[in-house]
Amino acid sequence: MSTLPNHFTVNFWGVRGSIASPGSGTVRYGGNTPCVEMQVGGQRLIFDGGTGIRVLGRSLLSQMPVDAHLFFTHTHWDHIQGFPFFVPAFIKGNCFRIYGAIAPNGSTIERQLTDQMRHPNFPVRLQVMEASLQFHNVEIGKSVQIDDIEVENALLNHPGQAVGYRVNWRGHAAAYVTDTEHFPDCLDKNVLHLARNADVLIYDATYTDDEYYSKQSSKVGWGHSTWEEAVKIAKAAGVKTLVIFHHDPLHEDDFLDWVGEQVACAFPKGVMAKEGMSLQIFPPTLVPEATNVLEIANIPETAEVVEDIQVSV
Ligand SMILES: [Zn+2]
Ligand SMILES: [Zn+2]
Repeated sequence: MSTLPNHFTVNFWGVRGSIASPGSGTVRYGGNTPCVEMQVGGQRLIFDGGTGIRVLGRSLLSQMPVDAHLFFTHTHWDHIQGFPFFVPAFIKGNCFRIYGAIAPNGSTIERQLTDQMRHPNFPVRLQVMEASLQFHNVEIGKSVQIDDIEVENALLNHPGQAVGYRVNWRGHAAAYVTDTEHFPDCLDKNVLHLARNADVLIYDATYTDDEYYSKQSSKVGWGHSTWEEAVKIAKAAGVKTLVIFHHDPLHEDDFLDWVGEQVACAFPKGVMAKEGMSLQIFPPTLVPEATNVLEIANIPETAEVVEDIQVSV
């Protein structure tokens, strides 16, 4: 089933970085690793297959057949480990067009997802998936066109390479920029390009500046950025709504509340990504008392959740 033709909505199914982090301290922001769904112009675009994609998959079971475009930033575990548990991929009649850049070692996205599910890593091979899986190698700097939707990309600054994306549709734009580390002396031109005047910028702000520059345990060179750098980029690029994303597994709910307060002081249209959060870019749903600030809603419940199809290991 396709999505509403005249809508542009961003749904957050996994917002945690590095490793899934369930527990009493992460209940409110969520412990699943990256997966962001954009329903835009009647199409469904999915970014990354972290553990959040398992939850998205369950919601899609009541909307089959599913035809979706799945873009990977890179294949670090936190961005692919949900894919073997993405039930719609096992069901005939569904179709997934899968995009990713060729890794520096020459490995394609098809090869990397296949290897993840190869014995003895996983008991079920990718070839068992009965949906139509069509793999595409992303060429850096070359857009992908899907109807009247354009998906731009650019390289990010991350160990082993990562790719950021920007979705353009009828004058609106949302950028998905994770995993990336800022430069010490200048703003990253690629990030600025992806973020330019975007309605929504989703940005890797794993750390605070204090943690990043900590003398005891510096995070310089680890491939991630900070909320302070997120605000700098958002201001320089003319971003409307900034979403702080890829939360550190050590950052529990109360700490993320505190980060959110700092972000809101520095950038009033800055919000913390939360699992289950939904931002509607078009038609715009705005907070009544603050015009131009997107309303934060929960992802609507689907009519029915199908319980009897599972992947077990
Ligand atoms: Zn990551
Ligand atoms: Zn990574």
